[in-house]
Amino acid sequence: MDENVRGHSSHEKIIVSGAPGYMTVDLAALARNYVRLSGEVAPARAAAVVKADAYGLGAEKIAPELYKHGCRHFFVAQFAEATVLRPLLPADAAVFVLNGLQPGSETICARDGIVPVINSLEQWQRWAAEAEALEQKLPAVLQFDSGMSRLGLPPEDRPVTADLLKTENSIDVLFVMSHLASADDPENIQNAAQKAEMERISAEFAQFPACFANSGGIFLGKTFHGVLTRPGIALYGGAPTGGTENPMEPVVSLDVAVVQVRTVPSGTRVGYSGTHVTTAETRLATIAAGYADGLPRSLSGRGAVYCDGVRLPIVGRVSMDSITVDISALPQNRLTLGSRVEVLGPNQTLEDLARDADTISYEILTGLRHRYQRQYL
Ligand SMILES: *Cc1c(COP(=O)(O)O)cnc(C)c1O
Repeated sequence: MDENVRGHSSHEKIIVSGAPGYMTVDLAALARNYVRLSGEVAPARAAAVVKADAYGLGAEKIAPELYKHGCRHFFVAQFAEATVLRPLLPADAAVFVLNGLQPGSETICARDGIVPVINSLEQWQRWAAEAEALEQKLPAVLQFDSGMSRLGLPPEDRPVTADLLKTENSIDVLFVMSHLASADDPENIQNAAQKAEMERISAEFAQFPACFANSGGIFLGKTFHGVLTRPGIALYGGAPTGGTENPMEPVVSLDVAVVQVRTVPSGTRVGYSGTHVTTAETRLATIAAGYADGLPRSLSGRGAVYCDGVRLPIVGRVSMDSITVDISALPQNRLTLGSRVEVLGPNQTLEDLARDADTISYEILTGLRHRYQRQYL
């Protein structure tokens, strides 16, 4: 066997060198972020939002780690994600499906103890029918739309929902929940409006505890928490609030390998469509990741990577599998075939990269899951 490839499990190998990129997920930092958020919301609890494979970091590793640190509520977006996660967690952990109860998923949800978030009266009826067929009470979260117009029961369905609850006892409602649309911006007036609407919902359904804040909502204050909060991005080190210092610890770092180095004269075109033309003799390095690896094409001519704290600007277009950077600011021969440059780390945060790519940290994180060698600390 190649000495650079270690057997890990029957179907998984860890490449310790020779990979195009190395993504490190610091599980200790993740745990500290969870403890930090739990402290912030106490006596309310912090769930963990682990949808989209825990924002691309690997839900199979992230969720059990958070369980060890006291997390008992896990939210995924889709039924299929719940079926993967459910067997990896002990029975006293709850797995909730944010996107709701999809037709066809009822029997497996009931059998495996997956808790749907009920987003409509139709979903309520389907879940109630399943409960009646099984002659057993089934758990659910009731989501109400408090102003985002995305998911959840609309205001006009609240009276009939309240009536249903008086007669129907086949569904065990664990929480009423809603989701904030603008929680990352404390100045946004939508926050107060949604909070007021959530307070009305909580009054109308006073028998059930409330589940409200996402990461940003946690830092809007206690009145946004309910008894259960649902942080996602903050767990993974993303900034919960825009434009202020990030209170969370970084969890992800990413280094990418250099695959070629060259020196070109002034007046040389670089990359697809020749969008960049050098204005002096320039040393260039091509690195082994591109838009297929989650480094958006919008970084073309804008973003940078780092080496020894030196900024290396991206020149020309981001390709599918590679990016060319200007390394003239580094000492000669500092970077050679196989050297690594920092894409995410001490010199460049998720927010830095997202800003340069004209997107948000969430999109960067969830895009990084493909071809890098992933290591958990
Ligand atoms: C994604 C999501 C969250 C987590 O949001 P963050 O901003 O990442 O903390 C919470 N609740 C719902 C309903 C979501 O869709």
